[in-house]
Amino acid sequence: MRVVAIYPGTFDPPTKGHADIIERASKLFDNVIVAVGKNSNKAPLLTVDERLQALSSISSPYDNVTVESFDGLLVEYAKSKGAKSIVRGLRAVADFDYEFQIAMVNRKLEPEVDSVFLMTSWEYSFLSSSVVREIALLKGDVSTMVPDQVLTILEGAVARRLKG
Ligand code: ADP
Repeated sequence: MRVVAIYPGTFDPPTKGHADIIERASKLFDNVIVAVGKNSNKAPLLTVDERLQALSSISSPYDNVTVESFDGLLVEYAKSKGAKSIVRGLRAVADFDYEFQIAMVNRKLEPEVDSVFLMTSWEYSFLSSSVVREIALLKGDVSTMVPDQVLTILEGAVARRLKG
């Protein structure tokens, strides 16, 4: 049986921390679907298409990783894909409370789907999309924080935001 996992997130923008989790998950599961959530109530900097493009490029070295967007309930989406696992990345203790709550709610909704937590690499444990957005909007250098393929897309999105 092939074990399929979903790695869901907002990915606004994808960071080196996300890329690290994608690589780790690709080694653990037969198939990984990186899933960009569309129904976030945050006003995103990157469009869904920009995030899909960036994640596809990050995932291109792994032939068992695909990238999609989804809306609606995560567990329903996971079931529709035949996925039994939801992968989430954990940085510091600060992530735990939130992730634990979401995992418990998802289990209540769908007991057959389990959440799996992967620890990020040491060097990315401080990194978040919100920090990257903040620095990028202030024209700071984020080249060590996001994969190269994300930089151009991020710069385009920042220019659009600052113009508008
Ligand atoms: P969400 O809005 O669903 O939290 P994010 O894009 O912020 O979406 O994060 C998606 C997942 O990636 C979450 O599980 C988050 O903990 C994880 N993540 C975010 N940044 C990092 C990082 N630097 N290292 C490892 N995992 C991370």
